Amino acid sequence: MTQGRVHVVGAGLAGLSAAVEIAQSGRAVTLYEGSTQAGGRCRSYFDAQLGCRIDNGNHLMLGCNHAILAYLSAVGASDTLTGPAKPAFPFYDLGTDERWTVAMSAGRVPWWLFQKRHRVLASKPSDYLEALRLLRAPAGAAVAERLNPDSLLFRRLWAPLAIAILNTEPEAASAGLLGAVFAEMFGAGGAGCVPLLPREGLSESLVDPALKWLERQGATIKLGARLRALTKDKGRASILHFVEEDVVLAEDDAIVLAVPAPVAASLLPGLVAPDDFRAIVNAHYRVDTGRFDQSFVGLIGGTAEWVFVKPGLLSVTISAADRLVDTPAEELIPLIWRDVARTFSMDGEAPPARIIKEKRATFAATPAQMALRPATRTEVGNLFLAGDWTDTGLPSTIEGAVRSGVTAARAVCAMQHT
Ligand SMILES: Cc1cc2nc3c(=O)[nH]c(=O)nc-3n(C[C@H](O)[C@H](O)[C@H](O)COP(=O)(O)OP(=O)(O)OC[C@H]3O[C@@H](n4cnc5c(N)ncnc54)[C@H](O)[C@@H]3O)c2cc1C
Repeated sequence: MTQGRVHVVGAGLAGLSAAVEIAQSGRAVTLYEGSTQAGGRCRSYFDAQLGCRIDNGNHLMLGCNHAILAYLSAVGASDTLTGPAKPAFPFYDLGTDERWTVAMSAGRVPWWLFQKRHRVLASKPSDYLEALRLLRAPAGAAVAERLNPDSLLFRRLWAPLAIAILNTEPEAASAGLLGAVFAEMFGAGGAGCVPLLPREGLSESLVDPALKWLERQGATIKLGARLRALTKDKGRASILHFVEEDVVLAEDDAIVLAVPAPVAASLLPGLVAPDDFRAIVNAHYRVDTGRFDQSFVGLIGGTAEWVFVKPGLLSVTISAADRLVDTPAEELIPLIWRDVARTFSMDGEAPPARIIKEKRATFAATPAQMALRPATRTEVGNLFLAGDWTDTGLPSTIEGAVRSGVTAARAVCAMQHT
């Protein structure tokens, strides 16, 4: 088979990374995005009410996210990430008014466990061994079944990490999936746990440089191009029906379908895919942050879970937040601000704020949903799936999305070689 054009549908991180990988192989690529902005669940925009650009939600990446780092390097955006130079995670317990920083050693040997000031306050080195139980977890086990939910370390470390990584309550979240992430993080030593954040914004790091690079490679990018159906012929997709146009595929063309799971399921009847999701609520407060020297802090025992310090903004993330999605923004703004104000010792009422509720932020990382994640290849010979919800072995994250895009692109290249 010769090298036909590759049609990538969906310009989230999965579609973008697939398009970059395909363009790197020298193939012709067209990237279609249904909305007027690329980036999907990972994007920035100007908020007129706050008078500044904001991200739809804070996104934390880690030093072990090698696919993200390779993607950024490919498009010349490696220098757009920032963060603390060390693998350090500051925490504040709102219930007890105590603060500590988990400060891991740089290398693979966890010397930090033997230094009291580098551990979770009041924890012992032996407490941490419990995490090994995640590595041998049976497929159906939940996090709270493998780690003791009544322990101090669970409240102060395991649960905050599990909720942030899996966006699912530990009583339901897959222990094996958390174990897979821990293996990548801690297996790589402190360097694998260094937090990485966009220097300016999500789009400025993860989206715009890729679009510009793709354009320079001659790729065609079509925004506002929503795929509504596809025609199949003899086991292959033959026509892509967009709202505005039909695209008839040549014999050797291929498709990477990089849309969210519910959209893929509606386009491909019979596709088995995750169908249960969890919300993330973000609160952005307009604050002069010049005097704060931290880039983020994890909160225990409040409504707010993580606060990120950005130029002119304190930005809060609350994961597995389905309990909050029906609460009006006017109630959430003062509720969340209470935690933020205590953390940073501030008085007074909440400053101007924006609440963003992403109702389907990620699929629920439960064992039942894990079993529904499809492989890249489909029954349609020239159509390949990408997306954080495909069977990447990782939770719904940027790293998972990027890996899925690379996997789909490589599968296309392998097919076009045969
Ligand atoms: C608030 C929030 C916070 C998060 N925090 C983190 C974090 O800290 N760290 C982390 O690693 N991950 C985080 N994530 C998860 C991360 O954002 C996602 O895993 C990742 O962005 C998913 O990328 P994707 O390409 O798989 O899907 P999407 O981003 O959903 O991309 C799919 C694209 O397809 C487009 N599309 C849909 N239908 C059609 C159609 N019919 N035709 C054409 N195009 C279509 C969509 O508009 C979208 O652009 C967070 C997510 C949210 C929402």
